[in-house]
This record gives sequence, structure tokens and C-alpha cells, in this order.
Amino acid sequence: MRPIIISVAITGSVPRKANNPAVPITPSEQIESTHEAFGAGAALVHIHVRHDDETPSSDPERFAQVQEGVRRHCPGMIIQFSTGGRGRAPAERGSALKFSPDMASLSTGSVNFPTIVYENQVPLVTELASTMMRFGVKPEIEIFDLSHLHGARRLADAGLIDARAHLQYVLGIQNAMPAERHLLEILVEEGLRLFPEATWAAAGIGRHQRPVSEWAIELGGHVRTGLEDNIRVSSDRLASSNAELVSIAAGQIRAAGHRVATPAEARTLLRLPV
Ligand code: MG
Repeated sequence: MRPIIISVAITGSVPRKANNPAVPITPSEQIESTHEAFGAGAALVHIHVRHDDETPSSDPERFAQVQEGVRRHCPGMIIQFSTGGRGRAPAERGSALKFSPDMASLSTGSVNFPTIVYENQVPLVTELASTMMRFGVKPEIEIFDLSHLHGARRLADAGLIDARAHLQYVLGIQNAMPAERHLLEILVEEGLRLFPEATWAAAGIGRHQRPVSEWAIELGGHVRTGLEDNIRVSSDRLASSNAELVSIAAGQIRAAGHRVATPAEARTLLRLPV
């Protein structure tokens, strides 16, 4: 029986109107949704902020507002800001790191997404990694392709990230890596070859969320869920909340004979201050 961390990606950058009305958009909705997910077992929250229903925001003050609310209502929860690119200018992607969240996402290479190229040029990646180091922010390395693991290794060799990295494998994005178990096994093996002390998690997009979580649990990793990645609990029913998706992941962890990590355990596992 091992403690397994549940991360919840509450919002993302897709408009909710055509999507799912449960996706939290305003800071107060985001804080409330995170609080419910925390109650259901999430120890880490991955945050994008939104200007409105349609538009991603880079406003650092919005990030700060959500961080403050989550710190107040969810004691010990690990706060992770997205530095993701969709709808945001490259120069703005690191603008909230000055608020020193516990963690931030860091993509180490470019990849095709459903309708865009998710562009992560080396100078931007290097700058984001340096900024994270300066503000004491632990990166979560987002792996959308095998080459991104090697991009991360180059950052570690250059002293720009800690070699005790936290890696996240993202499977099931259209035009990127398919959600296949053998592929996750290859990634995990290569990740641990390059980073023997790494921790890792996996995220499955859409209907792949549940099977990818199951594989991650079996293969020794942690799980990510939430409405950013998946808005449904079944082909004919929308998820009612982030908390509902977290409860499903918690059920999978317990069914496999493990337990859900508390925030303090998650901090120890990820080598963050408790
Ligand atoms: Mg994201």
C-alpha cells in the first residue's frame, strides 16, 4: 500500500459554454471548486486563470488571488501554476512565478495539439526554468513527447532544474501521443533511466482519463484528473464537478489496494516544504 497523489487540473483553457458548465472560471468559482476537490482527496491543484468564459488570461494578479484563496481554504494543498501557452503570449507565460507558487508546469519541447502547434522554443523553456529556480518554484515537467524527456535532461545537465524531477506524462491529446499502456511503460522506463530519483504522474485526456490513471497506479506513479482534461464521467454524462472526478480517481486508488496521499505526504514525496 503506497500513498498516491491526486492532482486536480480545475480549469484549463477551453471555453466552457460549449463544454461543461461545471468548469470554474472566476477566481471565486476556482477557489470553491478547488476546495471541494481538496475535500475529495486532491493534494495538488493545477491552475490556469481565465479572463472570461472564452479567453485565457495571463494576469498575474488573478493567479495571486486564486493562490491566496486556496491557501486559506485548503491548508497544505500544493499550488501549481500553469505556464502553458494556449492563448497566451510567450513573454507572459512566466509572469505569475514571482508569487512563488509551490510548483509550476514546464513544457520542455514543442508538440502538435488538436488545432495548434504548442510552441516551446528552447530560449523560452530555458528562461521559464531559470525564473522558476529564482523564485523557488518546483517545475512539473510536462512530457507530451519522448523528446521532451531529453529536453528536461539537458536542463538538468545545465543546472536549470533539479535532477530529482517531477515528470508528468500526458497521453491522449489528438495529434500527440496516443493513450496506450505500452507507450506509458516506455516513457516511465526512459524517464527513470534519465532521472533515477524522479517522481512521476500521468494524465489521460478525455475518455482516456480513467484508464491512464489505472495504469499510473499500477506502474508506480501518481494521477492527475480534473475538468481541464476531461469533462465527462461517461459517454452520456457530464461530470458535475472537479470533486466528482477526484472521487473517481480516489476510488481507483483504493480499489488497487493503495491510499490517497494527504497534502503533507504529497509534499514529502515531491520534496516540497511541509
Ligand atoms: Mg494545463
